[in-house]
Amino acid sequence: MSRLAVDGGTPVRTTPLPTVLDPAGRTFGAEERAAVLDVLDGAVLNSSAGGPWLGDLEATMARLHGVPHAVASSSGTAALHLAVAAIDPEPGDEIITTPLTDFGTIAAILAQNAVPVFADVDPLTGNLDPASVEAQLSERTRAILVVHLFGAAAPVTELRALADRAGVALIEDCAQAYLARPAPDAPPVGTYGAVGCFSLQQYKHVTAGDGGLCVTSDAATAERMRLFSDKAWPRAEGRFHRFLALNYRMTNLTAAVAAVQLRRLPDVVERRRRQAARLLTAVGDLPGAHLPDRPDLHAWWVLPLVVDEGHRRWAKALTAEGVPAHAGWLQSPVYRYPVFTERRTYGTSGFPLTSPPARRDWTYPVGLCPRAERLIDDTLVVLQWNENYADADVDDIAAALTKVAAGLTRTAA
Ligand SMILES: *Cc1c(COP(=O)(O)O)cnc(C)c1O
Repeated sequence: MSRLAVDGGTPVRTTPLPTVLDPAGRTFGAEERAAVLDVLDGAVLNSSAGGPWLGDLEATMARLHGVPHAVASSSGTAALHLAVAAIDPEPGDEIITTPLTDFGTIAAILAQNAVPVFADVDPLTGNLDPASVEAQLSERTRAILVVHLFGAAAPVTELRALADRAGVALIEDCAQAYLARPAPDAPPVGTYGAVGCFSLQQYKHVTAGDGGLCVTSDAATAERMRLFSDKAWPRAEGRFHRFLALNYRMTNLTAAVAAVQLRRLPDVVERRRRQAARLLTAVGDLPGAHLPDRPDLHAWWVLPLVVDEGHRRWAKALTAEGVPAHAGWLQSPVYRYPVFTERRTYGTSGFPLTSPPARRDWTYPVGLCPRAERLIDDTLVVLQWNENYADADVDDIAAALTKVAAGLTRTAA
Protein backbone atom coordinates (compact mmCIF):
# COMPACT_ATOMS: atom_id res chain seq x y z
CA MET A 1 0.00 0.00 0.00
CA SER A 2 1.49 3.33 -1.07
CA ARG A 3 2.12 6.14 1.40
CA LEU A 4 -0.58 8.81 1.64
CA ALA A 5 0.25 12.13 -0.02
CA VAL A 6 -0.57 13.85 3.28
CA ASP A 7 2.34 11.82 4.81
CA GLY A 8 4.73 12.68 1.96
CA GLY A 9 3.68 10.01 -0.56
CA THR A 10 2.90 10.62 -4.25
CA PRO A 11 -0.56 12.13 -4.87
CA VAL A 12 -3.03 10.17 -7.00
CA ARG A 13 -3.64 13.25 -9.12
CA THR A 14 -1.91 16.56 -9.82
CA THR A 15 -4.21 18.22 -12.39
CA PRO A 16 -7.35 20.03 -11.22
CA LEU A 17 -10.78 18.47 -11.73
CA PRO A 18 -13.41 20.47 -13.66
CA THR A 19 -15.54 22.64 -11.38
CA VAL A 20 -18.70 24.76 -11.66
CA LEU A 21 -16.52 27.89 -11.76
CA ASP A 22 -14.66 26.72 -14.83
CA PRO A 23 -15.84 26.49 -18.49
CA ALA A 24 -14.73 22.84 -18.49
CA GLY A 25 -17.17 22.10 -15.68
CA ARG A 26 -20.18 23.95 -17.10
CA THR A 27 -22.51 23.24 -20.02
CA PHE A 28 -22.78 26.66 -21.69
CA GLY A 29 -22.85 26.48 -25.50
CA ALA A 30 -23.85 28.31 -28.65
CA GLU A 31 -27.54 28.24 -27.63
CA GLU A 32 -26.94 30.29 -24.45
CA ARG A 33 -24.89 32.82 -26.44
CA ALA A 34 -27.63 33.12 -29.06
CA ALA A 35 -30.29 33.54 -26.35
CA VAL A 36 -28.36 36.36 -24.64
CA LEU A 37 -27.90 38.17 -27.98
CA ASP A 38 -31.57 37.66 -28.82
CA VAL A 39 -32.51 39.53 -25.64
CA LEU A 40 -30.04 42.35 -26.23
CA ASP A 41 -31.13 42.73 -29.83
CA GLY A 42 -34.77 42.95 -28.69
CA ALA A 43 -33.92 45.77 -26.22
CA VAL A 44 -36.28 44.43 -23.49
CA LEU A 45 -34.14 43.10 -20.65
CA ASN A 46 -36.99 43.01 -18.15
CA SER A 47 -39.49 40.15 -18.27
CA SER A 48 -42.57 41.91 -16.81
CA ALA A 49 -42.33 44.40 -19.71
CA GLY A 50 -43.04 41.57 -22.10
CA GLY A 51 -39.70 39.82 -22.60
CA PRO A 52 -40.53 36.40 -24.09
CA TRP A 53 -38.04 34.13 -22.34
CA LEU A 54 -39.71 33.95 -18.94
CA GLY A 55 -42.74 32.11 -20.31
CA ASP A 56 -40.46 29.69 -22.15
CA LEU A 57 -38.47 28.98 -18.97
CA GLU A 58 -41.57 28.50 -16.80
CA ALA A 59 -43.23 26.20 -19.35
CA THR A 60 -40.08 24.04 -19.59
CA MET A 61 -39.81 23.81 -15.79
CA ALA A 62 -43.48 22.83 -15.42
CA ARG A 63 -43.19 20.21 -18.17
CA LEU A 64 -40.04 18.69 -16.61
CA HIS A 65 -41.97 18.22 -13.37
CA GLY A 66 -45.32 17.22 -14.83
CA VAL A 67 -47.12 20.08 -13.06
CA PRO A 68 -49.27 22.90 -14.50
CA HIS A 69 -47.45 25.88 -12.95
CA ALA A 70 -43.90 27.19 -12.57
CA VAL A 71 -43.01 30.68 -11.30
CA ALA A 72 -39.58 32.23 -11.81
CA SER A 73 -37.88 34.64 -9.38
CA SER A 74 -34.53 36.29 -8.77
CA SER A 75 -32.88 33.61 -6.57
CA GLY A 76 -33.41 30.33 -4.77
CA THR A 77 -33.88 32.34 -1.58
CA ALA A 78 -36.56 34.42 -3.34
CA ALA A 79 -38.26 31.21 -4.55
CA LEU A 80 -38.39 29.96 -0.96
CA HIS A 81 -39.72 33.32 0.22
CA LEU A 82 -42.48 33.12 -2.41
CA ALA A 83 -43.45 29.67 -1.10
CA VAL A 84 -43.54 30.81 2.54
CA ALA A 85 -45.44 33.97 1.60
CA ALA A 86 -47.99 31.83 -0.26
CA ILE A 87 -48.67 30.01 3.04
CA ASP A 88 -49.11 33.48 4.62
CA PRO A 89 -48.18 32.61 8.24
CA GLU A 90 -49.14 34.83 11.18
CA PRO A 91 -46.12 36.39 12.92
CA GLY A 92 -44.70 33.83 15.36
CA ASP A 93 -46.18 30.82 13.56
CA GLU A 94 -43.75 27.94 13.22
CA ILE A 95 -42.16 26.25 10.23
CA ILE A 96 -40.29 23.04 10.97
CA THR A 97 -37.07 22.66 9.01
CA THR A 98 -33.51 21.33 9.05
CA PRO A 99 -30.38 22.88 10.59
CA LEU A 100 -28.29 21.41 7.76
CA THR A 101 -29.00 23.77 4.88
CA ASP A 102 -28.12 26.95 3.03
CA PHE A 103 -29.18 30.05 4.95
CA GLY A 104 -31.61 30.93 2.14
CA THR A 105 -34.00 28.25 3.48
CA ILE A 106 -34.06 29.97 6.85
CA ALA A 107 -34.05 33.59 5.64
CA ALA A 108 -37.28 32.86 3.74
CA ILE A 109 -38.98 31.80 6.99
CA LEU A 110 -37.71 34.71 9.12
CA ALA A 111 -38.38 37.29 6.40
CA GLN A 112 -42.07 36.37 6.56
CA ASN A 113 -41.97 36.67 10.39
CA ALA A 114 -42.30 32.96 11.05
CA VAL A 115 -40.14 31.00 13.51
CA PRO A 116 -37.85 28.26 12.15
CA VAL A 117 -38.15 25.21 14.42
CA PHE A 118 -35.32 22.75 13.90
CA ALA A 119 -35.78 18.99 13.68
CA ASP A 120 -32.88 16.53 13.63
CA VAL A 121 -31.61 14.61 10.64
CA ASP A 122 -30.68 11.11 9.55
CA PRO A 123 -27.05 10.39 10.53
CA LEU A 124 -26.14 9.00 7.08
CA THR A 125 -28.04 11.19 4.60
CA GLY A 126 -28.33 14.40 6.63
CA ASN A 127 -31.96 14.62 5.52
CA LEU A 128 -34.82 15.42 7.94
CA ASP A 129 -35.92 12.56 10.16
CA PRO A 130 -39.76 12.36 10.07
CA ALA A 131 -39.93 11.19 13.72
CA SER A 132 -37.98 14.26 14.82
CA VAL A 133 -40.23 16.49 12.69
CA GLU A 134 -43.33 14.93 14.26
CA ALA A 135 -41.96 15.63 17.76
CA GLN A 136 -41.71 19.35 16.91
CA LEU A 137 -45.31 19.79 15.74
CA SER A 138 -47.33 22.29 17.79
CA GLU A 139 -50.60 24.21 17.51
CA ARG A 140 -48.55 27.03 15.93
CA THR A 141 -46.99 24.87 13.16
CA ARG A 142 -47.96 26.11 9.71
CA ALA A 143 -45.58 24.21 7.46
CA ILE A 144 -42.76 21.71 7.16
CA LEU A 145 -39.93 22.97 4.94
CA VAL A 146 -37.88 19.99 3.83
CA VAL A 147 -34.49 20.24 2.09
CA HIS A 148 -33.30 17.50 -0.26
CA LEU A 149 -29.71 17.62 0.88
CA PHE A 150 -26.76 17.19 -1.50
CA GLY A 151 -29.00 15.64 -4.18
CA ALA A 152 -30.68 12.86 -2.17
CA ALA A 153 -34.47 12.93 -1.94
CA ALA A 154 -35.60 13.38 1.66
CA PRO A 155 -38.38 11.03 2.89
CA VAL A 156 -41.07 13.18 1.25
CA THR A 157 -43.79 10.55 1.11
CA GLU A 158 -43.61 10.15 4.91
CA LEU A 159 -43.33 13.91 5.43
CA ARG A 160 -46.29 14.59 3.15
CA ALA A 161 -48.41 12.08 5.11
CA LEU A 162 -47.28 13.70 8.36
CA ALA A 163 -48.08 17.21 7.06
CA ASP A 164 -51.53 16.07 5.87
CA ARG A 165 -52.31 14.45 9.24
CA ALA A 166 -51.26 17.64 11.04
CA GLY A 167 -53.12 19.90 8.60
CA VAL A 168 -49.99 21.87 7.67
CA ALA A 169 -48.30 22.57 4.34
CA LEU A 170 -45.20 20.84 3.00
CA ILE A 171 -42.69 23.01 1.12
CA GLU A 172 -39.72 21.42 -0.66
CA ASP A 173 -36.30 23.06 -1.05
CA CYS A 174 -34.94 21.27 -4.13
CA ALA A 175 -32.02 23.66 -4.79
CA GLN A 176 -29.51 20.79 -4.57
CA ALA A 177 -31.66 17.99 -5.96
CA TYR A 178 -32.98 18.68 -9.46
CA LEU A 179 -34.83 15.57 -10.72
CA ALA A 180 -33.95 13.46 -7.67
CA ARG A 181 -36.53 10.79 -6.85
CA PRO A 182 -37.44 9.08 -3.56
CA ALA A 183 -38.02 5.75 -5.35
CA PRO A 184 -37.69 4.24 -8.84
CA ASP A 185 -40.49 5.47 -11.13
CA ALA A 186 -41.65 7.99 -8.50
CA PRO A 187 -42.20 11.62 -9.57
CA PRO A 188 -39.24 14.00 -9.07
CA VAL A 189 -38.81 16.04 -5.90
CA GLY A 190 -40.67 19.32 -5.87
CA THR A 191 -43.98 17.63 -6.67
CA TYR A 192 -44.75 16.19 -3.20
CA GLY A 193 -45.38 19.45 -1.37
CA ALA A 194 -47.56 22.48 -1.99
CA VAL A 195 -44.54 24.15 -3.62
CA GLY A 196 -41.12 22.93 -4.80
CA CYS A 197 -38.33 25.55 -4.85
CA PHE A 198 -35.18 25.56 -6.98
CA SER A 199 -32.10 27.75 -7.48
CA LEU A 200 -30.19 28.73 -10.62
CA GLN A 201 -27.22 30.14 -8.71
CA GLN A 202 -23.68 29.50 -9.97
CA TYR A 203 -23.06 26.38 -7.85
CA LYS A 204 -26.19 24.47 -8.87
CA HIS A 205 -26.69 21.80 -11.57
CA VAL A 206 -27.69 24.44 -14.15
CA THR A 207 -27.21 28.17 -13.75
CA ALA A 208 -27.96 31.65 -14.98
CA GLY A 209 -25.71 33.25 -12.34
CA ASP A 210 -28.61 33.74 -9.95
CA GLY A 211 -32.27 32.85 -10.28
CA GLY A 212 -35.07 30.86 -8.69
CA LEU A 213 -37.98 28.67 -9.74
CA CYS A 214 -41.09 27.37 -7.94
CA VAL A 215 -43.33 24.56 -9.14
CA THR A 216 -46.87 23.92 -7.92
CA SER A 217 -50.05 22.13 -8.96
CA ASP A 218 -52.29 24.77 -7.38
CA ALA A 219 -53.36 27.73 -9.54
CA ALA A 220 -54.14 30.01 -6.57
CA THR A 221 -50.72 29.33 -5.02
CA ALA A 222 -49.03 30.05 -8.35
CA GLU A 223 -50.96 33.30 -8.69
CA ARG A 224 -50.09 34.44 -5.17
CA MET A 225 -46.39 33.66 -5.75
CA ARG A 226 -46.44 35.50 -9.06
CA LEU A 227 -47.94 38.55 -7.36
CA PHE A 228 -45.48 38.36 -4.46
CA SER A 229 -42.55 38.46 -6.91
CA ASP A 230 -43.90 41.67 -8.48
CA LYS A 231 -44.80 43.87 -5.48
CA ALA A 232 -48.30 42.33 -5.47
CA TRP A 233 -49.15 44.38 -8.52
CA PRO A 234 -52.05 42.89 -10.51
CA ARG A 235 -50.90 44.52 -13.73
CA ALA A 236 -53.97 43.57 -15.75
CA GLU A 237 -56.22 45.38 -13.26
CA GLY A 238 -54.46 48.69 -12.68
CA ARG A 239 -51.76 50.43 -10.67
CA PHE A 240 -52.34 49.32 -7.07
CA HIS A 241 -50.77 46.74 -4.79
CA ARG A 242 -52.75 43.99 -3.11
CA PHE A 243 -50.51 43.27 -0.10
CA LEU A 244 -46.97 43.75 1.19
CA ALA A 245 -44.61 42.13 -1.28
CA LEU A 246 -41.17 42.67 -2.81
CA ASN A 247 -39.60 42.82 -6.23
CA TYR A 248 -38.20 39.34 -6.87
CA ARG A 249 -38.58 39.43 -10.66
CA MET A 250 -36.23 37.45 -12.89
CA THR A 251 -34.92 39.49 -15.82
CA ASN A 252 -35.48 38.43 -19.42
CA LEU A 253 -31.70 38.21 -19.78
CA THR A 254 -31.46 35.69 -16.93
CA ALA A 255 -34.54 33.83 -18.17
CA ALA A 256 -32.97 33.42 -21.62
CA VAL A 257 -29.87 31.68 -20.25
CA ALA A 258 -31.93 29.71 -17.73
CA ALA A 259 -34.40 28.50 -20.39
CA VAL A 260 -31.59 27.05 -22.47
CA GLN A 261 -29.81 25.60 -19.42
CA LEU A 262 -33.00 23.90 -18.25
CA ARG A 263 -33.24 22.02 -21.55
CA ARG A 264 -29.83 20.56 -20.74
CA LEU A 265 -30.84 19.57 -17.20
CA PRO A 266 -31.98 15.96 -17.82
CA ASP A 267 -28.67 15.24 -19.58
CA VAL A 268 -26.65 16.99 -16.83
CA VAL A 269 -28.31 14.86 -14.14
CA GLU A 270 -28.02 11.69 -16.24
CA ARG A 271 -24.28 12.20 -16.77
CA ARG A 272 -23.75 12.91 -13.07
CA ARG A 273 -25.61 9.66 -12.30
CA ARG A 274 -23.65 7.63 -14.81
CA GLN A 275 -20.30 8.77 -13.40
CA ALA A 276 -21.50 8.29 -9.82
CA ALA A 277 -22.44 4.71 -10.69
CA ARG A 278 -18.95 4.22 -12.12
CA LEU A 279 -17.42 5.54 -8.89
CA LEU A 280 -19.58 3.36 -6.62
CA THR A 281 -18.66 0.26 -8.61
CA ALA A 282 -14.97 1.16 -8.49
CA VAL A 283 -14.79 1.77 -4.72
CA GLY A 284 -17.12 -1.00 -3.50
CA ASP A 285 -17.34 -1.07 0.30
CA LEU A 286 -15.05 1.61 1.73
CA PRO A 287 -13.72 0.76 5.19
CA GLY A 288 -14.77 3.40 7.72
CA ALA A 289 -16.95 5.37 5.30
CA HIS A 290 -20.36 5.43 3.64
CA LEU A 291 -21.46 6.79 0.23
CA PRO A 292 -25.03 7.21 -1.11
CA ASP A 293 -26.10 3.87 -2.57
CA ARG A 294 -28.63 4.76 -5.31
CA PRO A 295 -26.87 6.45 -8.23
CA ASP A 296 -30.09 6.28 -10.26
CA LEU A 297 -32.22 8.25 -7.73
CA HIS A 298 -29.69 10.77 -6.38
CA ALA A 299 -29.07 14.05 -8.27
CA TRP A 300 -25.37 14.13 -7.26
CA TRP A 301 -25.08 17.84 -6.54
CA VAL A 302 -21.98 16.88 -4.59
CA LEU A 303 -20.51 13.58 -3.40
CA PRO A 304 -21.27 13.32 0.34
CA LEU A 305 -19.07 10.89 2.24
CA VAL A 306 -19.99 10.00 5.83
CA VAL A 307 -17.06 8.60 7.79
CA ASP A 308 -17.10 6.82 11.15
CA GLU A 309 -15.08 9.63 12.75
CA GLY A 310 -12.29 12.15 12.14
CA HIS A 311 -13.70 13.93 9.07
CA ARG A 312 -10.89 16.50 9.10
CA ARG A 313 -8.23 13.81 8.61
CA TRP A 314 -10.21 12.39 5.67
CA ALA A 315 -10.69 15.80 4.04
CA LYS A 316 -7.02 16.70 4.46
CA ALA A 317 -5.83 13.36 3.11
CA LEU A 318 -8.17 13.42 0.09
CA THR A 319 -7.25 17.01 -0.74
CA ALA A 320 -3.56 16.08 -0.56
CA GLU A 321 -4.24 13.27 -3.08
CA GLY A 322 -5.54 15.91 -5.52
CA VAL A 323 -9.26 15.41 -4.81
CA PRO A 324 -10.56 18.51 -2.99
CA ALA A 325 -12.72 17.60 0.03
CA HIS A 326 -14.35 19.69 2.73
CA ALA A 327 -14.98 18.58 6.32
CA GLY A 328 -18.44 19.25 7.71
CA TRP A 329 -19.85 21.40 4.87
CA LEU A 330 -21.13 24.08 7.31
CA GLN A 331 -19.17 25.68 10.13
CA SER A 332 -22.05 25.03 12.53
CA PRO A 333 -25.71 24.08 12.33
CA VAL A 334 -27.78 27.02 11.09
CA TYR A 335 -29.23 27.57 14.59
CA ARG A 336 -25.79 28.50 15.93
CA TYR A 337 -25.46 31.46 13.55
CA PRO A 338 -25.61 34.91 15.24
CA VAL A 339 -29.06 35.51 13.73
CA PHE A 340 -30.32 32.95 16.29
CA THR A 341 -27.78 33.02 19.13
CA GLU A 342 -27.91 36.85 19.30
CA ARG A 343 -31.41 37.17 17.73
CA ARG A 344 -30.09 39.51 15.03
CA THR A 345 -33.38 39.90 13.17
CA TYR A 346 -35.24 43.25 13.17
CA GLY A 347 -33.39 45.96 15.10
CA THR A 348 -32.91 44.80 18.68
CA SER A 349 -36.45 43.40 18.96
CA GLY A 350 -35.61 39.72 18.54
CA PHE A 351 -38.86 39.56 16.55
CA PRO A 352 -40.36 37.02 15.80
CA LEU A 353 -38.29 34.69 18.02
CA THR A 354 -39.64 36.10 21.29
CA SER A 355 -43.05 35.92 22.98
CA PRO A 356 -45.21 37.58 21.72
CA PRO A 357 -45.65 36.97 18.80
CA ALA A 358 -44.07 33.53 19.37
CA ARG A 359 -45.72 31.16 21.86
CA ARG A 360 -42.44 31.18 23.79
CA ASP A 361 -38.95 32.71 23.75
CA TRP A 362 -36.97 30.50 21.43
CA THR A 363 -33.38 29.58 22.28
CA TYR A 364 -30.91 27.63 20.18
CA PRO A 365 -28.41 25.83 22.44
CA VAL A 366 -25.62 23.50 21.35
CA GLY A 367 -27.08 20.00 21.45
CA LEU A 368 -30.44 21.01 19.92
CA CYS A 369 -29.98 18.57 17.01
CA PRO A 370 -27.16 16.20 18.02
CA ARG A 371 -27.12 14.16 14.82
CA ALA A 372 -26.76 17.27 12.64
CA GLU A 373 -24.00 18.52 14.96
CA ARG A 374 -22.13 15.23 14.73
CA LEU A 375 -22.20 15.32 10.92
CA ILE A 376 -20.75 18.84 10.92
CA ASP A 377 -18.24 18.26 13.73
CA ASP A 378 -17.02 14.74 13.02
CA THR A 379 -18.41 12.61 10.19
CA LEU A 380 -19.41 14.53 7.04
CA VAL A 381 -16.95 15.04 4.17
CA VAL A 382 -18.12 16.75 0.98
CA LEU A 383 -16.42 16.20 -2.39
CA GLN A 384 -17.36 18.06 -5.56
CA TRP A 385 -19.16 16.28 -8.36
CA ASN A 386 -19.53 17.31 -12.01
CA GLU A 387 -21.29 16.06 -15.14
CA ASN A 388 -18.15 16.72 -17.16
CA TYR A 389 -15.93 14.33 -15.24
CA ALA A 390 -14.21 11.98 -17.69
CA ASP A 391 -13.91 8.29 -16.84
CA ALA A 392 -10.26 8.93 -15.90
CA ASP A 393 -11.34 11.69 -13.46
CA VAL A 394 -13.78 9.34 -11.76
CA ASP A 395 -11.15 6.59 -11.61
CA ASP A 396 -8.75 9.02 -9.91
CA ILE A 397 -11.38 9.98 -7.34
CA ALA A 398 -12.06 6.29 -6.72
CA ALA A 399 -8.33 5.59 -6.35
CA ALA A 400 -7.95 8.48 -3.88
CA LEU A 401 -10.92 7.30 -1.81
CA THR A 402 -9.65 3.72 -1.72
CA LYS A 403 -6.11 4.81 -0.86
CA VAL A 404 -7.18 7.20 1.90
CA ALA A 405 -9.64 4.72 3.38
CA ALA A 406 -6.93 2.04 3.53
CA GLY A 407 -4.33 4.48 4.84
CA LEU A 408 -6.48 6.00 7.57
CA THR A 409 -8.08 2.81 8.80
CA ARG A 410 -4.61 1.16 8.91
CA THR A 411 -3.29 4.07 11.02
CA ALA A 412 -6.28 3.68 13.32
CA ALA A 413 -5.79 -0.09 13.68
C1 LIG B 1 -28.39 27.32 -2.97
C2 LIG B 1 -29.43 26.98 -1.97
C3 LIG B 1 -30.41 27.89 -1.57
C4 LIG B 1 -30.39 29.34 -1.95
O1 LIG B 1 -30.35 29.60 -3.28
P1 LIG B 1 -29.80 31.04 -3.80
O2 LIG B 1 -30.14 30.99 -5.23
O3 LIG B 1 -28.33 31.05 -3.51
O4 LIG B 1 -30.53 32.09 -3.06
C5 LIG B 1 -31.40 27.47 -0.71
N1 LIG B 1 -31.42 26.22 -0.24
C6 LIG B 1 -30.49 25.31 -0.57
C7 LIG B 1 -30.60 23.94 -0.01
C8 LIG B 1 -29.44 25.67 -1.43
O5 LIG B 1 -28.50 24.76 -1.72
